[in-house]
Amino acid sequence: MLVRRKMIRERALELLERFAVKQAPVPVDDLARRLGAKVVKQDAPDELSGFVLREPTKGVVIIGVNAKHPPNRQRFTVGHELGHFLLHEGERLHIDKQWTGYQVKLRSEQSSAGTNVDEMEANLFAAELLMPVPFLNTDLAKLTPSKLSAEEDIARLAKKYRVSEQALTLRLTSLGYIQQ
Ligand SMILES: [Zn+2]
Repeated sequence: MLVRRKMIRERALELLERFAVKQAPVPVDDLARRLGAKVVKQDAPDELSGFVLREPTKGVVIIGVNAKHPPNRQRFTVGHELGHFLLHEGERLHIDKQWTGYQVKLRSEQSSAGTNVDEMEANLFAAELLMPVPFLNTDLAKLTPSKLSAEEDIARLAKKYRVSEQALTLRLTSLGYIQQ
């Protein structure tokens, strides 16, 4: 199964439009709540980033986030879990362990292709939601092209979007704004 890039971008943009989010930072916790999920932040071992729990019969959805992780990473985790919630129906409890930033560190029990695709899709959804292309286009247009690779611009934009500089750099690279 391939990562559904086009659909994921559309879902993220639809969500932003539906809740009239027009600029960074995207209020990801608020969006999750408005979609009916309860966002719970608690201290957990470092290797646990978050989970999404669905209780369809009770109409309850809980997104758990490791409160010990840096705030920007917690935001990415909420986006990631929201991705599982919206894109991967049918799984009652999904736990994300051993996940750092953008990368999924595979564990033996997560080696099935389906799971890898799910993780890539959830990461992509988080990126599309927290760093939407139209928002980036607007902000990047304000920069002079020669300055785009400058570290201070990345730092300033990352601060505005409330994402890690690493996540933003990866996003801008994958969108072709930064040459590798
Ligand atoms: Zn995941």
